[in-house]
Amino acid sequence: MNRKKTRVVKVGNIAIGGDNPIRVQSMTKTPTVDIKSTVRQIKRLAKKGCEIIRLGVPDKESALALGKIKKASPIPIVADIHFDYRLALIALEQGVDKLRLNPGNIKNPKYISLIAKEAKARGVPIRVGSNAGSLPKEILEKYNGLTPEALVESALHEVRLLEDNDFTDIVISVKASSVPLTVEAYRLLSQKVDYPLHIGITESGTVFPGTIRSSVGLGILLYEGIGDTIRVSLASSPDKEVEVAYEILDSLELRRKGIRVIACPMCARSHFPVQQVAKEIERKFKNYPLNLVVAVMGCEVNGPGEAKWADIGITGSKDRVIIFRKGKIIKETNFRNIISELEEELDKIKEVNSN
Ligand code: SF4
Repeated sequence: MNRKKTRVVKVGNIAIGGDNPIRVQSMTKTPTVDIKSTVRQIKRLAKKGCEIIRLGVPDKESALALGKIKKASPIPIVADIHFDYRLALIALEQGVDKLRLNPGNIKNPKYISLIAKEAKARGVPIRVGSNAGSLPKEILEKYNGLTPEALVESALHEVRLLEDNDFTDIVISVKASSVPLTVEAYRLLSQKVDYPLHIGITESGTVFPGTIRSSVGLGILLYEGIGDTIRVSLASSPDKEVEVAYEILDSLELRRKGIRVIACPMCARSHFPVQQVAKEIERKFKNYPLNLVVAVMGCEVNGPGEAKWADIGITGSKDRVIIFRKGKIIKETNFRNIISELEEELDKIKEVNSN
């Protein structure tokens, strides 16, 4: 996987692009005016590994709430602005770390210039976030409908307006809910610019289909080296968005967070409750401070061999449970003690790693 070289853009204390890790971001789902709930949600997401958080700014009251939220937030905050350039100016005054502008609905060069000047003076980057649902009419007419080229042109038009104001602290996105359209648009965009790209499939759906669509779309792009920060959009809690984002990055071995539990699919040989044990381990060790792979396998005959590349594994039958490391059985225990015995073994590995 060769990552496309992009410029580095700093969002508060988090750098996007270049050789920096692919950043995970999400969006709050509370009303921004409800400062208390919003801060609570941000803190919870930050604990899960969310590195940048975006907030909708539908009105002046929401824009004026950003300062307090910024002060309480452990991660950089991004103001999502549509239609009204004045909200962008208030958000900047409130000290946000980044702006997101939709080129489909803030396109007057005079207003872009005002925002660019103010953002530049404060060292705040701007994401130009083109969205299939809000492309300008003239671009749709030019391309005879929604195409990858139309999405890219809409974004690049706004990028040029910013550049005309000597503003280059830019991140770009070209999202659609169609996976093929999004993939093609990002491929095209990535050939044309070296700004860092924020990638995502927009309105991807509820948890199950949305996770699959996002994984397919973002998986293709990331595997091709495209994308510097990801947001998984789900009609669900933002916690799920962050979890799915890390699973996608982990699947491509780009980033890992905590223990990765792999599990065999089970077959006629299985006499071990793989699903139940795997879920319990996932829950218990989600935030374990080591990047390790734990395998849960369905039988003792093939399990240890099939999962010998895992750092540690568990299998057994009925009440007999065996724990193995790199394919070799190291311990036998019973069903009740699975978690405590596993924890003991993980702690031993942690101990060795820390010496
Ligand atoms: S580990 Fe055992 S139970 Fe699981 S798929 Fe392989 S043979 Fe079947």
